[in-house]
Amino acid sequence: QNIDGIAALQNDTSAQMDAYKGAINLLKYHQEKHQLQIFTHTKVEKIDENKNNCELLTEHGHTISCKYVIVATGFEAGQFLPKKVMNLLSTYAICSAPIDKKMVWPNRSLIWETAEPYLYMRTTKDNRLIVGGEDEDFQNPDKRDDLLRTKIKTLERKFSRLYPEIEFNTEMAWCGTFSSTNDGLPYMGPWKKGDRTLFALGYGGNGITFSMVAAQVLKNIILNQKDSRLETFGFDRPTK
Ligand SMILES: Cc1cc2nc3c(=O)[nH]c(=O)nc-3n(C[C@H](O)[C@H](O)[C@H](O)COP(=O)(O)OP(=O)(O)OC[C@H]3O[C@@H](n4cnc5c(N)ncnc54)[C@H](O)[C@@H]3O)c2cc1C
Repeated sequence: QNIDGIAALQNDTSAQMDAYKGAINLLKYHQEKHQLQIFTHTKVEKIDENKNNCELLTEHGHTISCKYVIVATGFEAGQFLPKKVMNLLSTYAICSAPIDKKMVWPNRSLIWETAEPYLYMRTTKDNRLIVGGEDEDFQNPDKRDDLLRTKIKTLERKFSRLYPEIEFNTEMAWCGTFSSTNDGLPYMGPWKKGDRTLFALGYGGNGITFSMVAAQVLKNIILNQKDSRLETFGFDRPTK
């Protein structure tokens, strides 16, 4: 990658996708193939569970009945959990104006510096560069947004230290909330064995990969099939 990094590792096991497009197409596919019903902008306030089914209460007083509920509400899952299992952080990213294709680093690799704070770098189809990291150990949205200007400067400086030959003109910048767990692993499965409310919480930096694993594990739980991954990702695993 033309980076002078002692003991850096290179592998070909990572992938990149447009998460928004991916999610929309996945929903469309199941709408057409499996009559999936989608209720957008419908906040679930409460989940009641009994022996044979679950009842969800929405903010406008409607109810949804179902056999199982999968809570995949990202970092807002706390309201459905009896105990806090994640730490909420703030994270920052900048995106450049398109650069000359010839200037992009080899293979459009996904670059990750595992320092504290970490730094990651990616490319987009239209030859923009995304640089992110600079996490802060708090969640307050006002405090988080106030820091954005400073973080833009820090990320630009860190980028130009690695690639002084690439002119990085920041065209977009954003910050967001990010969750992590004490042992760095996601949570999936019921809070306690036999519950009909199941969680798919891909906390950590690999949420998209973890979500795929959660889909398989939760399907197995519903079909009453054993899945040994629950020992690693379930709520009753030993944690740090
Ligand atoms: C800056 C940043 C960079 C990241 N980079 C990567 C990466 O490189 N690779 C990777 O794998 N992951 C990455 N992640 C993590 C990844 O984005 C998340 O793990 C993933 O998006 C989580 O998806 P989700 O569907 O579980 O939750 P979300 O995408 O958070 O979706 C939850 C949904 O639930 C809805 N919801 C919440 N509460 C309720 C309620 N009460 N009723 C109804 N609906 C509700 C929300 O509106 C939302 O639509 C990154 C995250 C951030 C912030």
